[in-house]
Amino acid sequence: MIASRRTVLAALAAGTLAGCSRPAGLDGGGRVPSAGPVAEARSHTPVTVPLPAAPTAPALTRAQVVARYGHLRPRTWGFGGPGVVRELPTSRRLIALTFDACGGRGGSGYDQALISFLRRREVPATLFLNSRWIDANPAVFRQLAGEPLFEIANHGTRHLPLSVTGRSAYDITGTRNAGQVYDEVARNQAKLSRLLGVPPRFFRAGTAYSDDVAARIVTAMSDHLVTFAVNGDAGATFTPWQVESTVTAAPAGSIVLCHMNHPSSGTAQGIAAAVPRLIAAGYRFVRLSDKLR
Ligand SMILES: [Zn+2]
Repeated sequence: MIASRRTVLAALAAGTLAGCSRPAGLDGGGRVPSAGPVAEARSHTPVTVPLPAAPTAPALTRAQVVARYGHLRPRTWGFGGPGVVRELPTSRRLIALTFDACGGRGGSGYDQALISFLRRREVPATLFLNSRWIDANPAVFRQLAGEPLFEIANHGTRHLPLSVTGRSAYDITGTRNAGQVYDEVARNQAKLSRLLGVPPRFFRAGTAYSDDVAARIVTAMSDHLVTFAVNGDAGATFTPWQVESTVTAAPAGSIVLCHMNHPSSGTAQGIAAAVPRLIAAGYRFVRLSDKLR
């Protein structure tokens, strides 16, 4: 029952990850830009910690990745693959809310209402941040990175589907070879390692698409490659009611994907409606690192 429901939700997800995937400039400019760090500071007292500079070297060099994986041909393409994490290893009523910030033109907004709600209700979450989004929101990044409620994860450098052959998803051309896969993961990994003082443990590709060779590369680079069990906001295109109904239906152990970079979307309102219903039904929320070692 649970498995079939997951399958249905995953199938629904396959066609709709637009907020994470729409090419720059194709969102019609209808998205509201970031509320900015000033407004954020008024509504919340952040715990801003000094961020030490302690970069950690990747487990593999680019040359090693190319040598080991450059000759392999992929056999799969999608949200699964070897080692890909789509749900938590638990049957308990736990849900991991994850929010992507995809960056780039049309994708660098900040959903302050969403984050404020999570703080107010003390709902932990994992935030997958793209390198370009961090560059566009440095003050907000520092606030979020200093809050134990939130865990920072890697959402890529250029927000590319992770392919060793240049396959596309949602009209975005993916990385073209093993070396570019390395670059897409490692450059933002290095940035986050420097800013956080420790390397991020989780990676989600732009659009969440990858092939099996790229998945093996990510795992070899000591990251968990994470996709999702439930596509909670369909790339920040869902209405509040659609977000609420989809997230509320998430089975135990789900990794739920939504977005925190489209403040004019229905995501914040939908999450604010879904969370109390899930809590009333006995669910608790966790960060990925709370359940994945
Ligand atoms: Zn994204």
